[in-house]
Amino acid sequence: ASWFGHVEPAAKDPILGVTEAFLADPSPDKVNVGVGAYRDDSGKPVVLECVREAERRIAGSMNMEYLPMGGSIKMIEESLKLAYGENCEFIKDKRIAAVQALSGTGACRLFADFQKRFLPDSQIYIPTPTWANHHNIWRDAQVPQKTFTYYHPESRGLDFAGLMDDIKNAPDGSFFLLHACAHNPTGVDPSEEQWREISHQFKVKKHFPFFDMAYQGFASGDPERDAKAIRIFLEDGHQIGCAQSYAKNMGLYGQRAGCLSILCDDEMQAVAVKSQLQQIARPLYSNPPVHGALIVSTILGDPELKSLWLKEVKGMADRIIGMRTALKENLEKLGSPMSWEHITNQIGMFCYSGMTPEQVDRLTKEFHIYMTRNGRISMAGVTTGNVAYLANAIHEVTK
Ligand code: PLP
Repeated sequence: ASWFGHVEPAAKDPILGVTEAFLADPSPDKVNVGVGAYRDDSGKPVVLECVREAERRIAGSMNMEYLPMGGSIKMIEESLKLAYGENCEFIKDKRIAAVQALSGTGACRLFADFQKRFLPDSQIYIPTPTWANHHNIWRDAQVPQKTFTYYHPESRGLDFAGLMDDIKNAPDGSFFLLHACAHNPTGVDPSEEQWREISHQFKVKKHFPFFDMAYQGFASGDPERDAKAIRIFLEDGHQIGCAQSYAKNMGLYGQRAGCLSILCDDEMQAVAVKSQLQQIARPLYSNPPVHGALIVSTILGDPELKSLWLKEVKGMADRIIGMRTALKENLEKLGSPMSWEHITNQIGMFCYSGMTPEQVDRLTKEFHIYMTRNGRISMAGVTTGNVAYLANAIHEVTK
């Protein structure tokens, strides 16, 4: 008898599968707008200059000791300032329990495990649609999932009325997963005014907001502006949870640098919560990796490197915003009868184009353009060199 004969191959990850298919295509025209990783205008992966400089400064002096279970204290401190604000009173009052996490994914998972362990009867409300991995994360943590309305297919914008209804109709004291900015996959964010209303309604309903902030700085080009939703909730006196990632905004994808934080009632509670988060991490991976954390703390802890980073993150955001305009203009030039306003209204790495799975299949088969079947275009893969080709192909399959 075979030990593992009953093991069937796992379903392919819908996002990573796109890259595999792209790599296997020999066509010289091929375009990958599937994966959510930044590319420069020639389609090449980018390492930021601030990261290179931080590495030069670290080189030779870094030891390879274990970090504490909760990760790098300096990196956590800098992360909290970035998310909660430089002068946030909760940081000074030590009310925030925070640990370094395995990037945004690891931060979400740690929170989900914490939620299961200490509020075993709770559920999580997740927006429709969302980053597919959110479902996997809370499923594997065995937290029951509910969904809430978010996207309005007709307007390709926010279904604000539906969203507010679902917040009101959820049982008091529910957990909600919110994308802090640059919602993935839709690129649709609430306005500041809408965030204020959402925050107010959360207060009325005593809901707990958990912010997944995978794109701080990447949406508008300014990390402060992209933290606005969180700051509004803080002003309104919520206790929040927050998952931070440096994958996109510092281009540290493979370094797995992130932070999980939970705002508590007081310092004593924060100490207890942090110790429990560490206890969850211990049998999973013991302690987090050191190199990425050191890059982050070196950059954010040095005024000169930080200002270089701010310039570079703005550069990435601006290139994407520029490509949105170019894609829209190209479609209009081709005489597309459809409205493409949403391309420039949406924000962040992705454009939720509204194309059907069948149209996406045609893009791939006839034009060697690779993207997820939900019609999500990674704007980071669009360049001056391929935007006209992409626009033409989109026009051909949608006219
Ligand atoms: N959350 C959202 C919404 C994302 O889009 C991503 C990455 O695509 C992540 C979290 C986590 O990414 P990472 O684990 O690489 O930080």
